[in-house]
Amino acid sequence: MNGRDRYPQLEVDLGKLKENLTALRERCQDSFVGIIGVVKGVNAWDAVVRVFDEAGLPYLATSRLDQLGKLRGMGVRTPLMLIRVPMLSELDDMVRIADASLQSDLTVLRAADAAAARAGKTHGVLLMIDLGDLREGFWNAEELVDAAVEVETELRHLHLLGVGVNLSCYGSIRPDKRNMQGLSSLAVDVERAVGRPIELVSGGASTSTYMVLDGTMPGRVNNLRLGEILLVGRANYGCDPDFTHKDVFTLRAEVVECRDKPSFPVGQLTVDAFGRVGHYVDRGVRRRAIIDVGKVDYGDPADLFPRMAGVEVLGASSDHTILDVEAVKDRIKVGDVLEFGVNYASLVNLTNTPGVELVTKE
Ligand SMILES: *Cc1c(COP(=O)(O)O)cnc(C)c1O
Repeated sequence: MNGRDRYPQLEVDLGKLKENLTALRERCQDSFVGIIGVVKGVNAWDAVVRVFDEAGLPYLATSRLDQLGKLRGMGVRTPLMLIRVPMLSELDDMVRIADASLQSDLTVLRAADAAAARAGKTHGVLLMIDLGDLREGFWNAEELVDAAVEVETELRHLHLLGVGVNLSCYGSIRPDKRNMQGLSSLAVDVERAVGRPIELVSGGASTSTYMVLDGTMPGRVNNLRLGEILLVGRANYGCDPDFTHKDVFTLRAEVVECRDKPSFPVGQLTVDAFGRVGHYVDRGVRRRAIIDVGKVDYGDPADLFPRMAGVEVLGASSDHTILDVEAVKDRIKVGDVLEFGVNYASLVNLTNTPGVELVTKE
């Protein structure tokens, strides 16, 4: 073991990340779909940001202004987009830091215009329509078209970039032909109302990628905002392309205890550290290992995937994860470092926790 390494440690393989980006970008380009690179899934980790920045994408995006501020500080060349609809209270910061944002409310649009005027800037806006997922967006298409006309003709410090939709977030609604065609026809209505073509018709996030890959994305949709599929190589609904790396990120954690114990807790059962009733299967005495990383670091132990076959995640408390290593008991001892794959959920958590060392592999 290298004495300098600190654990828990999350490694990003920059070569694999680049390959994911290049592969997805080429396939999207074949369908005339551009990619906005979303970095909120890794808390705007600078190594990841650099890879996305070098790709020359139309925008880099994240949901939080502090992360966009960090990107500004890094001197990225790609324009920056805020992809959480902004608070009125942050508009002055927003127009200073971000070049563009998602918008869903006329009050906010008018205030953003005033803030942009004060800052002497022009700020791009993508108007969001809610097509059923019930997160952000205008519910009524006519209301959105009216807002687009007001932005175009009256809000001089805003630039109407286009329209967008968000799906499979709150309401777990699947992107499909029907809602993408709805977005396409909305784009046509907006263009007719403002009398010019709009630049962006943004059909959602990673969960919409499958429609590009299987050639069913309607022609007017020309943009996706992608984080998950670039970072972990897959998205929900079985969008699991065979050309992406799933192991861009690796979590490494150190074994601090490894011994035989019963598999069923001994004593009166109440609740665990989080107030929940546990479920334990009595499999007799088995070899168990503890690693010093826990729910505070990654969220849910079900979102960790042991790379060594035979290692099983049993559960966790705030700061410890308990593994069953009976099947590989001759291969694991205290001080060993075990590797895990992560998914988007654990990745978001691990990169937002100061106790996790972030390292890069070129
Ligand atoms: C997070 C987010 C994205 C990117 O989602 P992924 O699942 O990471 O691709 C796109 N758009 C909006 C509005 C988001 O909040």
